[in-house]
Amino acid sequence: AARWAPVMQIVEEFKKQCAMSATRLNQLANDMAIKMEAGLESDGGSELKMLLSYVDNLPTGDEKGLFYALDLGGTNFRIIRVQLGGQGKRVVKQEFVEVAIPPKLMVGTVDDLFDFIAAELEDFVNSEGEGFHFPDDDYRPREIGFTFSFPVKQSSIASGVLVKWTKGFNITNMVGEDVVAELSRAMAKRDVNMRVAALVNDTIGTVAGARYHDKDVVAGVILGTGTNAAYIERIQAIPKWRGTPPKSGETVINMEWGNFQSSHFTITEYDLALDLESLNPGEQIFEKLIAGMYLGEILRRVLLKLAERAALFGDVVPPKLNEPFILKTPAMSAMHHDTSWNLRVVGRKLKEILGIQNTSLKVRKLIVKLCDIIAYRGARLAAAGILGILKKLGRNTLPKDDIKQRTVIAVDGGLFEHYTKFSKCLNSTLAEILSKEVAATIVIDHANDGSGIGAALLAASHSQYL
Ligand code: ADP
Ligand code: MG
Repeated sequence: AARWAPVMQIVEEFKKQCAMSATRLNQLANDMAIKMEAGLESDGGSELKMLLSYVDNLPTGDEKGLFYALDLGGTNFRIIRVQLGGQGKRVVKQEFVEVAIPPKLMVGTVDDLFDFIAAELEDFVNSEGEGFHFPDDDYRPREIGFTFSFPVKQSSIASGVLVKWTKGFNITNMVGEDVVAELSRAMAKRDVNMRVAALVNDTIGTVAGARYHDKDVVAGVILGTGTNAAYIERIQAIPKWRGTPPKSGETVINMEWGNFQSSHFTITEYDLALDLESLNPGEQIFEKLIAGMYLGEILRRVLLKLAERAALFGDVVPPKLNEPFILKTPAMSAMHHDTSWNLRVVGRKLKEILGIQNTSLKVRKLIVKLCDIIAYRGARLAAAGILGILKKLGRNTLPKDDIKQRTVIAVDGGLFEHYTKFSKCLNSTLAEILSKEVAATIVIDHANDGSGIGAALLAASHSQYL
């Protein structure tokens, strides 16, 4: 049976390393703000790439017509169409399809991935029905906003090259290639008459989509398979900006915050091993502590250590516990939210996923405790990241003149949406690290699929045909 003294020792040590006091979170936020500045200073000035988006004009509400969006970013891939009514009528009708990306395409060839996408796109466009109106003109292509949620160095609103893969994608010969050119080639092969009018990161799409409904939106945060953030910055605060500034005087910056590193958080042995065995060792460290792709995997690694060192599941280490990524974050979340007296869901998940039978209540309780440690660390780090943005914008304090300040952060992604304990902890942590007066001015807005609609809106505002 389990040897509880070493079990508790391992768990307490892990808990201590994951604890993030308000003081540390504040230091972390300062560090984030400083590195944001360094990244705006010059390319390569910081591990935060602070990528320019070429989105200098956010949607106004006047956008009109039929537009598509295509969202490729991690686990699923979505195609959306929206009929925009223009001038206050906003979204008249919308439809979407969601397709799981076959895992082998994530590590296959460029052609296979984009051929797959183009085929889905073709099917979806052919199903366009009532309520959607497009000018009856054989030559005019339908326009798409392409949400591509990986780091891209853009050269215009509708072109840009992949900087690196993240989140388990690793397709050879794609880094350095133009993302839009690849998609366009695949569409041309199938005679799909569509044109990419805007290439956007999901964070940028989230800002655009949320801003369409609320003028006080200053930033967008993604908490899904991966994590990232974007925010609206003044051109004057961007020394690396070249060329004429836009009329708005502002642009949206894709921070690529997943790559943040700081001496103010502790990397545990589990994080270190996860990173070393990942497809992108040494990169996306912040993301690997926070995002949905990794939380369940961290839990698996801790459980494996407890099984090996302290016989948590008996004398034999359950073989499935050795399998990387077998324990996914939705399963962890289901265990974490188990409210039954005997933690029935925990027991069932252990059996179904890991083949572990007949666990005691004591073991199940311990697993819930581990979920607390891992999820709350992630949520607290994400809250500190948001505080970093607020500091950079000077919105972590109130203006001296008593103008009513209101600051909205739009958050999207499956982790935030479905992992209630995670999102609650993020909210309460922000309240903890901000003064009461400031906290009252900050709104965390769940922007459900803001990034897809946002991309369609950006396609509309950058249309060639309006
Ligand atoms: P993506 O980030 O791939 O664009 P989503 O925003 O839909 O897609 O996020 C999907 C991710 O959200 C999954 O990979 C998973 O990590 C996380 N997730 C989905 N459902 C849940 C859940 N019930 N509990 C916790 N995490 C979830
Ligand atoms: Mg997404």
